[in-house]
Parts: sequence; C-alpha cells; structure tokens
Amino acid sequence: MNEATAKDTMAGPDPDDRPQVAIGFVVDAAENSEIQRRLQWLQEVIRRDLEKDFPEFSWNFRLILRRDFPGDRPLDPLVLLEFGSELKIEYRLDFLLVLTSMPLMARFDQTVNGVPSNMLETGVVSMARPLENLEPERVDRAILALCRHILGHLWGLDHDEDSVMRPREFWNGDEPLDWSPEEKRQIRHYLQDIADPRLEETTQAASTAWRFYALLLRREGLSLARDIVLFRSWRMMLHLGRFTAATAVSIIFLFLSAEAWELGAAIRSSWLDLILVAVLFMATLSIYFGQNLQEVGRADRMMEQAARSRIVLFGTLLVGMASFWINLFLISLGIIAILPEQVLAGWAGLGGQSLPMVHFSKLMATFGILASSLGGNLEEEHDLKAVLIYTEET
Ligand SMILES: [Zn+2]
Repeated sequence: MNEATAKDTMAGPDPDDRPQVAIGFVVDAAENSEIQRRLQWLQEVIRRDLEKDFPEFSWNFRLILRRDFPGDRPLDPLVLLEFGSELKIEYRLDFLLVLTSMPLMARFDQTVNGVPSNMLETGVVSMARPLENLEPERVDRAILALCRHILGHLWGLDHDEDSVMRPREFWNGDEPLDWSPEEKRQIRHYLQDIADPRLEETTQAASTAWRFYALLLRREGLSLARDIVLFRSWRMMLHLGRFTAATAVSIIFLFLSAEAWELGAAIRSSWLDLILVAVLFMATLSIYFGQNLQEVGRADRMMEQAARSRIVLFGTLLVGMASFWINLFLISLGIIAILPEQVLAGWAGLGGQSLPMVHFSKLMATFGILASSLGGNLEEEHDLKAVLIYTEET
C-alpha cells in the first residue's frame, strides 16, 4: 500500500490541522505567456515567504485563468474588484488578487497601480507601469512589493514609512520590500481572527435574516462601529466636500424664498427633530438601494462576511449623511448670521420677535439633504461606490 492510499483510508481529522488561508490570483486567460510565467514565479515567491513567516497557517494558493475577464478599456478597478469578489466566493477563497498587465483607470489620484478593498477582501494589481518603465530584472521585485503592499492592506495594515507599507507614487522595486516584524505580528493576529469560525458555522447560527443580523451586531457591534467611524466615514466626508459646496449653493435659493421661512416658523422644534431623523434615514436608504449597494458581497455562503459588508456600507452612508447635514447646518448658520435679521424675521412672519437661528439652520440643512437625495444627484454613482469600497488607490 503506498502512502497516499494509506492516508485516504485513515479515519479522523486531517493531519494538518493548522488554520487554512486560501489565496487566489485571477488573471485574464488572454495574457501572454511571459506574463503568465511572471505570475507563476510571483505566486511561488509569495507562498514560500508566507510559509516561512507564518508557519502556523497552512497556505493554499491558486492561479485562476479566466476567459470572462472584464474587457472594457481602461480597466476600471471597481469592476475588477466586484468581478474578483464574486470569484472569491465561488472558489471559496479567503483573499483574492486580480492581476493584469493593462493600466487601470484612476479615480481619485493621478495614476493607480493597485487598489485593495479590505471590505471585499479583494485587491487589484496592475503590472502596466513597472513593465513599461523598468529594466526586466526590477519588474519582478516591483510587482512583488506592490502585491505585498496590497495584501498588507487586505490584512488590516496601515501605511508605514519603514516597510513595504510605505505609500509610493511609483513602484520601482526599491527597498523596503518586506513587512516589519511588528506588522507581521499584526498580520498573524488578523489572520487568526479570520480563521475563527464564521458565524454561520457556529451552532448559534440563526434561522432568520433578522436574527442573524441581531446576533452579528451583538457579537461584533464594536468592531463594526470602529470600522465605520474610524476608517470609512471620514473618507466619505472628504469626498463629499465638493458636493456639500454644490448643495450649499442650491439651498441659497431656499433662503431667498419667503415661503420657506413661513414654513419654518410654522413647524415646531420637536417636529423638526423628528423630520430630520426621518429624512436622514430616507436619504440613506434611497442611496443605498438606488446604487445597488445591497448587492455588494452577495453570497449564499460566507454570510457573515456579506452581512458585515452591508452593515458597514449602510452605517458609513448614514454617518456620511449625518456629517453632510452638519456641514449644511453650519453653512446655513453662517448665512443666517450674515443676512439682516429684520428681513428674515419679516419673511418668517415673526413680527418683532428675534429669529431662532438654530431652528432655521436645521430646517434649511434638512431641506438640502432631502433635495439632494431625492434628486439622486449625490456624486457620480460609481465614484461614491468606489469611496465606500476602495481602501485606497496606490
Ligand atoms: Zn497603501
């Protein structure tokens, strides 16, 4: 009896009971053989190093050639991320990189070599610039460093000047090419968390979607809130800066119509607060479903991860809308302070009373949110989605 059959007949658990980490590389089947050879080499090196650095995990790699690789040029990283995240689920992988020799379309930066999405556990890597600009022996090192940088982000690392996590405009294969010892410790920690049984694999798994979400929130509420507030919503706020300015211009028209002021005077303050909360939720829902964000991370398996992504997306949008409202509120307050009070009080029909500035600023900001979300003009659809899904462009 040879060794293989001996193993097959052996009952009991797999002899290798280390937690498994499965990583896929997805490539267009139309890439030439030189590119495919480079990728083979790249995968070998990454696997060998990971096995050396993290021997407590069992590393599984898979090179996947696809004929249905997205073909629109320039390649949109957002499309590739969505393509990749579906394959990741289909092939039951933990992480996935989509690699291409074509240049990527840049959204927020001048140029882009790679885009990690921590939320989708998927990254996009373009070899176009190293291939074009470097002598052959540096190309491999540059792409290796870029892949490590992207994987580092997928595993929760931030930027660091002294390691491969240093942000670079151009990846030229210069040192440092590796993670620091501290970063390796963080990666180990992160991967151990991932290797924990997902919620649907535990006996607690709930029968209905509502119960599932409730359990998830109870178990991971804190880390979800941290993800929303610390990592995502501030980036959305930055991006919404332009939009805030545009909407602020449009609410100036509201300021100039006496009806808005009359209406404001007629609404009681407590009602206005209620309306505000309703409008924020409505606006968030209208964008969430209007942009098909409920489809992000759709999956029948790995439900916990899909549910996490949805909660983070919805929460980020909600916090984003709330901060958008605060911006509009402050702008309104500023404008009201500048305009002559008697005129405004006259419009509001307040007679000789003084103008409740905060009340009217709230009203204007709420109108602004309502108008912008119903008008559906909240940024270009894909830009907003990219802000939510991208970890960065590098
Ligand atoms: Zn980075």
